[in-house]
Amino acid sequence: MAANNIYLGLVHYPVYNKFGDIVTTSITNMDVHDISRTCLTYGVKKYFLINPLASQKDLYQKIIGFWNSETGQNYQPDRASALQQIQFCNTLQEAISIIKTQENAEPLLVTTTARDTKGQVAYGDFSGIVGDKPVLLLFGTGYGLADEIHSQSDFTLKPIKITDDYNHLSVRSAVAIILDRLIPKNTGGIDGYTASCKQRAN
Ligand code: SAM
Repeated sequence: MAANNIYLGLVHYPVYNKFGDIVTTSITNMDVHDISRTCLTYGVKKYFLINPLASQKDLYQKIIGFWNSETGQNYQPDRASALQQIQFCNTLQEAISIIKTQENAEPLLVTTTARDTKGQVAYGDFSGIVGDKPVLLLFGTGYGLADEIHSQSDFTLKPIKITDDYNHLSVRSAVAIILDRLIPKNTGGIDGYTASCKQRAN
């Protein structure tokens, strides 16, 4: 059962490549599996794979088809249940429409990035801003979300940054860390987390 009102989107277009061009990236097996398991663990309502290419939809269907087959089910039945969370969409707009139909409300669009930009929101302020509204939390592939996605968003979260030297995480790690920071847990949630950090510091 979903424990919050968060939907997650992994955007394959429009994203940057290393030259700063806008491109479509390919779906990767690891992003399909690992992110769906993290989403299920954190009670995310749906995981949208956003990619406009028919060839990529075919690839996604092959992956899902295998894990839903008798061979896949016998090998690892848990995989198929995590993968049921995924919905393939051609565009961001399609994902937004699905949420609107499901929630009867427009979702807040929240983007993520490793870069510092103006007006980014701290993790601790997230729940106060979103309340119980549905949220579509967007992550990039390639070299990150195109600016046109950030400018459509309601806000961007501050980057995860622990040292000043390096903070370019794989998208799978970024998803896990950010969900853990945003979603209150029945083991004490963010307050429990803050308390345990203080305890360690003392
Ligand atoms: N091919 C790459 C991979 O190994 O996963 C994709 C990199 S893609 C640019 C990583 C995405 O994860 C970013 O678009 C952003 O959504 C998120 N991300 C990475 N590092 C982050 C950070 N330090 N803070 C917040 N989000 C981050």
